[in-house]
Amino acid sequence: MTLAISADDIDQTALLSELRRWVEIETHTPDAEAVNRLVDRVEALAREAGLVTERTPGTLGFGDILAVRSPRPAGSNQKSTLILAHLDTVHAAGTIKNQLPWRQEGDRLYGPGIYDMKSGALMALEAMKLAVKHGSKLPVDLLFMPDEEMGSVSSRALIEDYARNAGSALVVEPARDGGKIVVARKGVAMYDIVLRGRASHAGTRPQDGRSAIRAAARLVLELEALNDPDRGVTVTVGTIQGGTGRNTVPAECRMQVDVRLPDAGAATEILGRIEAMKPVDPDISIEISGSFNRPPFAQSEEGKRLFDHTAGIAAELGITLVGVSTGGGSDGNFTAALGVPTLDGLGADGAGAHTFDEYIYVSSIAPRTALLANLMLTLG
Ligand SMILES: [Zn+2]
Repeated sequence: MTLAISADDIDQTALLSELRRWVEIETHTPDAEAVNRLVDRVEALAREAGLVTERTPGTLGFGDILAVRSPRPAGSNQKSTLILAHLDTVHAAGTIKNQLPWRQEGDRLYGPGIYDMKSGALMALEAMKLAVKHGSKLPVDLLFMPDEEMGSVSSRALIEDYARNAGSALVVEPARDGGKIVVARKGVAMYDIVLRGRASHAGTRPQDGRSAIRAAARLVLELEALNDPDRGVTVTVGTIQGGTGRNTVPAECRMQVDVRLPDAGAATEILGRIEAMKPVDPDISIEISGSFNRPPFAQSEEGKRLFDHTAGIAAELGITLVGVSTGGGSDGNFTAALGVPTLDGLGADGAGAHTFDEYIYVSSIAPRTALLANLMLTLG
């Protein structure tokens, strides 16, 4: 196969100077104003390139969602290639001045959010510009989310709207461990559990008390007994808080639980068991609230075909594509759960997501941008 676009077609110098600008606009998820400053920049770039933009105001205090669409014939109902990116990061403002300044060391380029995932977001926009310049009429929709690091609660509905019209979904989250891409992700559920007993004086009336902490201790063991590494099920009680003082039988205990599930079957079974849990002591009440934040993204037959197609193009660019599955969720969970063949981890290679050692490999940018552009030219 001869590719329409090669790594040499990417203007790496221009791309890196634009990336620096994106990284210097720090975009911690809760800071909607900051996120929107970067949305302004991306919107302006897309318009300059003749792409169609649609900006949807964020809800729940998050920044705006930006859709960038390739021009297409009026009334065309051809399925699109949907690209998912996010502009928010986990890093608070000031990180670039203090813990993680922009710097290059050999092939490594450091900066807050550079790996997760401003590089991937910019590469996707660049690839789309190249594909359109190349004369492609295939519909491509590129979504920039403002709230992915906090579960995409504001943008989920819009992602799903676009997914319903998509033939495939490509997520430009970072690659990992030498450029591997993600072909499956676990589902993520989060629970808050409150146990309520009865307070009493620990010295004078212990018999009147009903310890919520003791009930919680049992429950922690019961919850964590659901861990099943062979099946890929993990249950972690991440925080616990209870009691009011040393000499009081504790009336209340709260915990936060993280659950990861490989597929829909495991989700139904494990979540059902958690939601049915009851304290042994009838005087202790339990309140379980929670949400299935991201459904599992399991690899489908169509997903395998999409992987093979992508691996074929990658090979022409000198990339040996390896697919892995991971326990971390992304917006790809939403598209995969709707039956859209989804590939993830198509952004830059590097390491250190969510840390002050976050970097990308500069050498991964041009070939992987070319990979994205050729995918846009051949999918659909
Ligand atoms: Zn990310």
